Amino acid sequence: MRDVGRHQTTQLACTANGLLVAEMGAAFSCCTPPENSLAEEAANTTAISSTLQSSSPRETARGRLLVFVNPHSGKGKSLQTFRKVVAPLLDSNNLNYDLVITTGRDHAKSVLISHEDLGSFNAILILSGDGLVFEAVNGILGRGDGFKILPTLPMSIIPSGSGNGLLCSVLHASGASLKPKKIHERAVEIATSGRAKSQNVAVFHVETDRGHCACFLSIGWGIMADIDIESEKWRKTLGSNRFTLGGIIRSLKLRTYRGKLSYRHYTSKERKQSEPYHIYDQNCCDRVAKREEKRKDTWPEYHVEEVPELHEPLDESWTVVDDEFISFYAVTLSHISSDGPYAPTAKLEDNRIHLTYILKKDVKNRMEIIKFLTAIENAKHLDLPFVKSVEVSAFRLEPQTGGSYVTVDGEVMDTTNIQVTSTTMHMSVFSAAK
Ligand code: ADP
Ligand code: MG
Repeated sequence: MRDVGRHQTTQLACTANGLLVAEMGAAFSCCTPPENSLAEEAANTTAISSTLQSSSPRETARGRLLVFVNPHSGKGKSLQTFRKVVAPLLDSNNLNYDLVITTGRDHAKSVLISHEDLGSFNAILILSGDGLVFEAVNGILGRGDGFKILPTLPMSIIPSGSGNGLLCSVLHASGASLKPKKIHERAVEIATSGRAKSQNVAVFHVETDRGHCACFLSIGWGIMADIDIESEKWRKTLGSNRFTLGGIIRSLKLRTYRGKLSYRHYTSKERKQSEPYHIYDQNCCDRVAKREEKRKDTWPEYHVEEVPELHEPLDESWTVVDDEFISFYAVTLSHISSDGPYAPTAKLEDNRIHLTYILKKDVKNRMEIIKFLTAIENAKHLDLPFVKSVEVSAFRLEPQTGGSYVTVDGEVMDTTNIQVTSTTMHMSVFSAAK
């Protein structure tokens, strides 16, 4: 047992023959988790009980990954995929890893909030859908050093979830095929390559009645959110086809939602593409140390423009739509699934929000909604006259109908009101560029 630091962690190590043994390991901390009860609880229970390590020695490895596998995501095959396909490739490319098999909601988040040795990893690998990426981003931002770590600890995704909008958007940006088999093959190739490079993806500040978080993909309310949440029960049987069935059912039982939407038009200049870095040249800790940016620790310091807090009134620079809605869907990336792009002009690093909504008064009958949902597959939905779209830098949504879901990156939020603001913050993912 080495003793290189103040903190001790207990981990279950996987020996070459697959046997699980408990091992005491020492952890040097360059990045500081918050000292709260959630962090302590995670360190003592969930994080430890399901952590495995690759058998290749850390000293000779090209780099080190923290892997999260959600065994229940999508059709439930992610653990099998990791063991049979991904782990052998990581081993042959001399990439070391710690594996966390998630046991439920917020497991990954609590591991990332409390991990005392996060800076020693080069990257994070996720086998799940957008939901686990959302958890990972917010786990990192739950740390005292979260704003420093997020841009310097790239994430790689092997699509095992039923919704993989982030990965599809990254692949699309490099011109890769979005046929399911091709997506999987390319994702494995990218995730296990020792020559992987980074790609920045804009993140946005979300304020709800209960607090703050980050998002990178979508904010939904109305029919799109209902479809996403109500079709979760078909995740295992239908995979991503759950959205099609959910869409048909919801269109036939069409609901409307009273609410107030306020937004600010996007006026900032488009952001420059930042230079990619080689993921295995340095670990996260070294990248944090090299960053020259002035330290900022709060969301407002990253906002592209000043906005009031959610509980404060808005001034007349905001456009207000107070009406009966059928759909409200805001996206920040091109793809919400492997279907045609939802926001064809969205770019990975660009921080504009592509907002779309449908008002009840503009729709003649429910067939038009079916037409809207099927048009998304071919990216023709924005041509429909009743679909309003606008690029914004901030919006506030105040639903007045009870019982409606608000989703962020496909996850349901425990809130009525929500405000989202463009920022200069970004996360980092594995680039798909050849
Ligand atoms: P999918 O696309 O299939 O919905 P996601 O990655 O979006 O996959 O994950 C769905 C949710 O599952 C996330 O909110 C995550 O916290 C949760 N989760 C993680 N591990 C487990 C588990 N072992 N059992 C059930 N849910 C889990
Ligand atoms: Mg999901």
